[in-house]
Amino acid sequence: MKELEEKIRHYGKVIEPDVLKVNSFLNHGVDPILMDHIGKAFADHFKNNEITVVYTIESSGIAPALMSALYLGVPMVILKKNMSSTMSDDLLHATVTSFTKGNTYDLTIEKSLIHDTDRILFIDDFLANGQAAFGVIDLIGQTNASLVGIGIVIEKAFQNGRKLLKEKGYDVYALTSIKRMDSSTITFK
Ligand code: 5GP
Repeated sequence: MKELEEKIRHYGKVIEPDVLKVNSFLNHGVDPILMDHIGKAFADHFKNNEITVVYTIESSGIAPALMSALYLGVPMVILKKNMSSTMSDDLLHATVTSFTKGNTYDLTIEKSLIHDTDRILFIDDFLANGQAAFGVIDLIGQTNASLVGIGIVIEKAFQNGRKLLKEKGYDVYALTSIKRMDSSTITFK
């Protein structure tokens, strides 16, 4: 997606050899027009997959996932990293290791929000080593619902998330894929 690549080239900052900061348009500040185009691009790609619901993980996946759900005409579910007192006790959990923070968190969903007939599209902001996606796979695997697609805004192709997911039979659709990056240059695939 050219528009996204231009934003990354212009505003992205490589803050560690494998960490890209995109706080001006995706992770902190959010560009609504770009989110609209991202949602449309995911919806176009997955339109024939009979998606019934879009999942994401709080918080950086919410903007692209919401726009994708809007264009697909389906609801969105935010998988929680932090428990809140408003959540019921009837929950499903999966443990995920955070790529950027290095700690683990408990991915949680209320059972009432997941249905055996669901055909789920998971949207996330980044794909690094696939830990977040595997947490979602674990969660959905505790039910009879199906994960039918994984949509990623920015894939870092020099990390092994796609390979690990492919080995398990999951195909990833990424809007941009970074082949390599350093503090001066970002090269797209
Ligand atoms: P994975 O679970 O695939 O190892 O990492 C993906 C998750 O870690 C994403 O949900 C994202 O929030 C975070 N992440 C991974 N790499 C980056 C990065 O380079 N920049 C930012 N901002 N977040 C990242």
